Amino acid sequence: MKIALRSAVAAAVATLAAAVPAHAEDNVLNLYSARHYQTDQMLYDQFTKQTGIKINRIEADDNALLERLRTEGRNSPADVILMVDAARLWRAQAEGLFQAVRSKVLDERIPQNLRGGDEGQGAQWYGFSTRARMIVYNKVNVKKDDVLTYESLADPKNKGKVCTRSGSHPYMLSLIGALIERNGEQATEKWAQGMVSNFARPPRGGDTDQINGVATGECGVALVNSYYYARMLRSTRAEDRDAINKVGFVWPNQDTSGTHINVAGGAVARNAPHREAAVKFLEYLTTDEAQAYFANGNNEWPAVATTVVKNPALQGLGKFKAENVPVTAIGKNQIAAQKILDRAGYK
Ligand code: FE
Repeated sequence: MKIALRSAVAAAVATLAAAVPAHAEDNVLNLYSARHYQTDQMLYDQFTKQTGIKINRIEADDNALLERLRTEGRNSPADVILMVDAARLWRAQAEGLFQAVRSKVLDERIPQNLRGGDEGQGAQWYGFSTRARMIVYNKVNVKKDDVLTYESLADPKNKGKVCTRSGSHPYMLSLIGALIERNGEQATEKWAQGMVSNFARPPRGGDTDQINGVATGECGVALVNSYYYARMLRSTRAEDRDAINKVGFVWPNQDTSGTHINVAGGAVARNAPHREAAVKFLEYLTTDEAQAYFANGNNEWPAVATTVVKNPALQGLGKFKAENVPVTAIGKNQIAAQKILDRAGYK
């Protein structure tokens, strides 16, 4: 009797000990974010107001976040991870840093083609905003009709005109992953060879550097993510105004496959200590209000189709036909994309 009581008490205490911290910690969410936009603070404040869950935010760029998650391993306090580009999200998934999430809200709000690694048990990651990979060209040196598609950039008629950032950058790897999905590996390898022989200069710099290169005429045509172009379009700096006036843009592949689309997205961390709060946060990101903040922070489009966009820079760019290659396919083609780049000498 005495022993039974003691063990009952011990069990109760153990239950209590387990329950108390777990309960207290339920009001916290550890967010690892590669985003750093002013509008994000409003996003987090609103979530805390609605749910009572406080957000501890750790901000770093995508590579630093990945490195940190690898180092922390099973002891990582990360609950939610926000990153940009399907190539990076896929890499994190492939390294086992995420866990599958099953959520009616997420499945209803986020279109299937913007969900990563969705194989029955739920998705490994979700796109919450979209960006497009556009073509910019020098209005004096290049005819728009010569650069209407991604494929056209590899055509001999554009010899000595093409600029891009490094082929191994996630933005390029994702585009190539999409090209593989549409055109196959052989045709994409030919495309990569054509690009290399058309370079105006070896790949270097970021997307903004490509816009500036096109403006000075060093490059005739370049590939850039839409938000870099939108940001420059909104800029009041004299040198940006000057540059953007010399540059025209194309929504690529409007008569064929549509413009390549990528995502900024998020996932629940593999060992999330606050899994429930993490899922709640991802669900919150699909609300109309959160979608507007999330997308506007970086001049992107909301992933949830019904969200109203009130961003003058984006509206100024007009509507376009988007590619419908699923982000999962882009992810699965990453290794083939890198091999093609290596063989083509696309640095
Ligand atoms: Fe970027």
